Amino acid sequence: MKQVDLVILGAGPAGSAAAVTARRAGLSVALIDKARFPRDKLCGGLITGRCAGHLARVFGQEITADLFETRHHFEFYMQGRDLGRLTDVPPLHLTTRRAFDARLLGHALAAGAEDYTGQRVTRFDPAQNQVTLDSGATLAFKVLIGADGVQSPVAKALFGRAFDPARVGFALEVEAPARPPDEAMPIRIDFAAAHWGYGWSFPKSGSTTVGLGGLHHENPDMNAHLAAYLDLLGVGHDARVKGHFLPFGEAKSHPGRANILLAGDAAGLVDPITGEGIGHAIHSGELAALAAAHAIATGAPETALRHYRRASRPIRRAVAQARWLRPLIFTARLQPFFARGFANSRRLKHDYMQLLSGKSDYPDLLWRVVTHLPAAILRNIRGKNR
Ligand SMILES: Cc1cc2nc3c(=O)[nH]c(=O)nc-3n(C[C@H](O)[C@H](O)[C@H](O)COP(=O)(O)OP(=O)(O)OC[C@H]3O[C@@H](n4cnc5c(N)ncnc54)[C@H](O)[C@@H]3O)c2cc1C
Repeated sequence: MKQVDLVILGAGPAGSAAAVTARRAGLSVALIDKARFPRDKLCGGLITGRCAGHLARVFGQEITADLFETRHHFEFYMQGRDLGRLTDVPPLHLTTRRAFDARLLGHALAAGAEDYTGQRVTRFDPAQNQVTLDSGATLAFKVLIGADGVQSPVAKALFGRAFDPARVGFALEVEAPARPPDEAMPIRIDFAAAHWGYGWSFPKSGSTTVGLGGLHHENPDMNAHLAAYLDLLGVGHDARVKGHFLPFGEAKSHPGRANILLAGDAAGLVDPITGEGIGHAIHSGELAALAAAHAIATGAPETALRHYRRASRPIRRAVAQARWLRPLIFTARLQPFFARGFANSRRLKHDYMQLLSGKSDYPDLLWRVVTHLPAAILRNIRGKNR
């Protein structure tokens, strides 16, 4: 049996961020993933300014042309209605997860994490602090980080299920043909393309990633929504449709137990309005590794969750604030008012973009929506009475 300080299950953005950070803190790290990299992961691959900051801090990874395409143009729609476009937004970056995740894993291995990718865990024994792999190897750990995605086997082992089906999101995506390149290549967002969610079209040089997502239980007919959305965009139906759960704002208040921590999607850290999860995955992986290092250094690995919970509170708070705001944007009865307020307010659109870029946070946007909504409702009532 091999003894390591930290076992990390899952080598996506959260797991690789945890591995790099733990190695920097001097821990011995085993990084396990059932997949061999490069591997595909269903995702739009939109990297926000906030996420770019985490990439630079944790991995030293800058926004380079070999991995990212930068866009400055954004357009917004709701049920076919043009809500306006912005041509001077802070830069947003598009990538493909196949190349992106392989690069992050490369950083983790270069930092000295031991490579256990392409191996499945056949037995996870939290009581004995051990995992057994299909190769027959058994690893004993002081702390384990479950960075194993929305269907997290670690979360299932701890809590009996990985997510709450009443709150989880679901998304469908296709890789449509690339559009003829033009100077603007706008990123398109369609509010209400799915119930309690939205649609997106991300133009990349090799393909256009088109998808939509929303609360799973509100969308029993998600395939029909996708078909309608593809028609709206004039995209054919021949591309292969893939689907994946999205932990859309159900951040776990206890992301783990004692010396077992959950990071990224496994901890439910996807923004319930924008659907952004890569940035929170990297940040939470980093914080989980720092908590593990602190708990191990003080000879008390079982205190890791306490340190991690405290450090990761701002991420959970941001997800919670977005959940409060979500009904104002996604409730069907309020949507006409939201559409009107959003279409008429360049400021509101800018605040949305500032939020994506990481230059502001939810309280600013919440305040702007709350101050615009009554005026939009009044305008609507006056319009009807005329
Ligand atoms: C359709 C869609 C579009 C999205 N678009 C965006 C976007 O544009 N921008 C954005 O920021 N976010 C987006 N997201 C969210 C984003 O994909 C996730 O939040 C992000 O991938 C979370 O990273 P993670 O490291 O926590 O998990 P993952 O990236 O899911 O990685 C988990 C890893 O764990 C491994 N694993 C799972 N089970 C086991 C096991 N039993 N043993 C070993 N390994 C295991 C998997 O192989 C995987 O490599 C999107 C999500 C979906 C579904």
